Amino acid sequence: MRLTRLHVAAPLASGSLIDLPPEAAVHLARVLRARGGDALVLFNGDGREFAAVVESVRGARVAVAVGEERPTDRESPLALTLLQCIPRGDRMDWIVQKATELGVQRIVPLVSRHVVVKLSARQAQSKAAHWRAVAVNACEQCGRTRLPAIDTPRPLDEFLGAAPAGGARLLLDPDSDDATSLDAAPAAIECAVGPEGGFAPEEIECLRIAGFRALRLGPRILRTETAALAALVSLQLRCGDLRRPS
Ligand code: SAH
Repeated sequence: MRLTRLHVAAPLASGSLIDLPPEAAVHLARVLRARGGDALVLFNGDGREFAAVVESVRGARVAVAVGEERPTDRESPLALTLLQCIPRGDRMDWIVQKATELGVQRIVPLVSRHVVVKLSARQAQSKAAHWRAVAVNACEQCGRTRLPAIDTPRPLDEFLGAAPAGGARLLLDPDSDDATSLDAAPAAIECAVGPEGGFAPEEIECLRIAGFRALRLGPRILRTETAALAALVSLQLRCGDLRRPS
């Protein structure tokens, strides 16, 4: 069986004995039914991971001995940011999970003209917290040692500031002519995906003015969540860590 990987929001150092933070401790003790002597892998999101052994489980208190740092290299050299207009229902959970597995570095949930979900400021905060938990879970499962940043949802037009240095900005548009090529492999890419109803024409205009180039993913209309994942796979294949060594 694969070793349990656990994210702990605490400093980690080889040779230390730590009490796991309550949330991680409860998960390990109650859900995974850990016992003294069980082997684990711990990471806190700083890019490293450590072998660890459960010292003791007392109720919901779990003490863990942190062992050797394990060498890892699971982060993409391509800094991918997914600008995702929020879809209906719980599809955003699915997108956050899969995008994390595919190595996205940042997810910015956006509210555009045709987004149907209405969020108060408080709901926006709590949605972001929920999506961060989904991402932590995905990192535990897929072996990532860095958590993707997940912004609090905001209006599309508030995002259109400057392009990332040395980066490219892409806009997924099924009606574009697909003239966009990425010959010089950029170090960073921001990729905007519309909601179920697509981007409004004036939004496409604003995005283009802000430096977004249109990208078409084949001749079929994809659902927003399919489009997001197809784009991430395609970009990791072209410029990231799905690219075959030449
Ligand atoms: N009814 C909408 C379809 C929206 S699909 C329309 O006709 O525009 C939801 C989003 O997924 C789109 O806004 C776009 O960002 C992306 N998308 C879907 N299919 C795509 C394709 N073939 N190429 C590029 N982007 C696509």
